[in-house]
Amino acid sequence: MRYSGFRVLSQGLLGNRGWRPAWRKPAPKPAYDVLIIGGGGHGLSTAYYLAKNHGITNVAVLEKGGLGLGNVGRNTTIVRANYFLPGNSEFYSHSLKLWENLERELNYNVMHSQRGLINLFHSDGQRDAFARRGNAMLAQGDDAVLLDRDGVRKLLPYLDFEQTRFPIYGGLYHPRGGTARHDAVAWGYARAADQRGVDLIENCEVTGIDIEQGRMIGVQTTRGPIRAKQVAIVVAGRSSQVAAMAGMRLPIESHILQAFVTEGLKPCIDHVVSFGMGHFYISQSDKGGLVFGGDLDFYASYAARGNLPMVEHVMEAGMTLMPMIGRARVLRSWGGIMDMSPDGSPIIDKAPVDGLFINCGWNYGGFKAVPASGWCLAHLMATGAPHQVARRFRLDRFATGHLLDEEGTGSQHNLH
Ligand SMILES: Cc1cc2nc3c(=O)[nH]c(=O)nc-3n(C[C@H](O)[C@H](O)[C@H](O)COP(=O)(O)OP(=O)(O)OC[C@H]3O[C@@H](n4cnc5c(N)ncnc54)[C@H](O)[C@@H]3O)c2cc1C
Repeated sequence: MRYSGFRVLSQGLLGNRGWRPAWRKPAPKPAYDVLIIGGGGHGLSTAYYLAKNHGITNVAVLEKGGLGLGNVGRNTTIVRANYFLPGNSEFYSHSLKLWENLERELNYNVMHSQRGLINLFHSDGQRDAFARRGNAMLAQGDDAVLLDRDGVRKLLPYLDFEQTRFPIYGGLYHPRGGTARHDAVAWGYARAADQRGVDLIENCEVTGIDIEQGRMIGVQTTRGPIRAKQVAIVVAGRSSQVAAMAGMRLPIESHILQAFVTEGLKPCIDHVVSFGMGHFYISQSDKGGLVFGGDLDFYASYAARGNLPMVEHVMEAGMTLMPMIGRARVLRSWGGIMDMSPDGSPIIDKAPVDGLFINCGWNYGGFKAVPASGWCLAHLMATGAPHQVARRFRLDRFATGHLLDEEGTGSQHNLH
């Protein structure tokens, strides 16, 4: 079924009785050509691009819960291409281009809103760092504008420009940055992959990985064994646990990141804004809630909920920057489990087992990467060679020393 304005109108007139489920609920077959472990954003986009770009459709996505209930539906929805280092820069640039055509591509409203992102700076040194970053973004073909204090005041008049502790010197404005509705991205990819013949198997946890003489032969699941010669581990915060089933020890630690949403308010924040003197970023959702977050809780954990010291830190940073938000009531908060790599950059690579692939290390920035990550992993699985925009995301870089030190904080995140 194609979605369109006409379909919405006609269904409205007919009592909305003609809608069909967005994807099938097939039982797992005994064997597939490709298995993707993990039905988050990255797993679903990989399945979609395997089918769309490479004609590989005998594919199953195995998800232990429901589609879109992991980090893909828990994040603060920021989409941007403002990375500094070669390796990340071209990858996120490619991803943003895919975002810009995503709704048409998937025939699904993911509510991608390029409302502009402004990273504030509060010192001369920080201005220099953002000027360099802006130049790197421009060199990559993306957009960046260095704003002075008056330029920021014009766009964000509600910030506290009088406070002296962290005076606002200016901001790096990325007009093509913005937000998207997070779970709609999972649903859109799921529906589009299903339409191309991919089986999406929910409530199917992978409990073992079967390897014979160094080659993949399949997996064990809570719904029985499934055979496949190609398997991809795309499980974000659970990467270390699932990779251990294949005898691998990954350079990944799992940490909690929290998000917060207030009651619905009239439109007041029409950009994405981030504070430069504490970790705090905020936008306003289409329902009116202020959506904001901060840094990781500073301990490794698999619990999808956070702790009060970080709540206090985030609220303090928000109040310092824009005291008006103190009037709003926080309605909801939650946590997600982040796959933190030692250099803050991801991994899309073959594993040491023949036919096994690994996609992880998205840290707390993997939502914006969803389109390009699936595109590049599908390319690697179909052709055997890394896609050029993901060629530096190698697993062995931690052994060879070729780090992509975007934010090399890893397990010592509090020290950055
Ligand atoms: C609070 C918060 C805020 C964030 N904000 C942003 C942001 O603003 N911008 C941004 O770019 N990124 C952001 N991120 C990061 C981003 O959400 C993640 O990097 C990204 O979603 C991770 O990839 P994923 O979507 O595939 O993960 P997930 O959705 O977590 O998918 C992994 C899936 O694997 C499944 N799985 C795990 N183990 C198994 C198993 N054994 N068998 C079968 N299935 C299994 C899980 O159930 C899960 O559904 C944020 C994250 C959080 C938590």
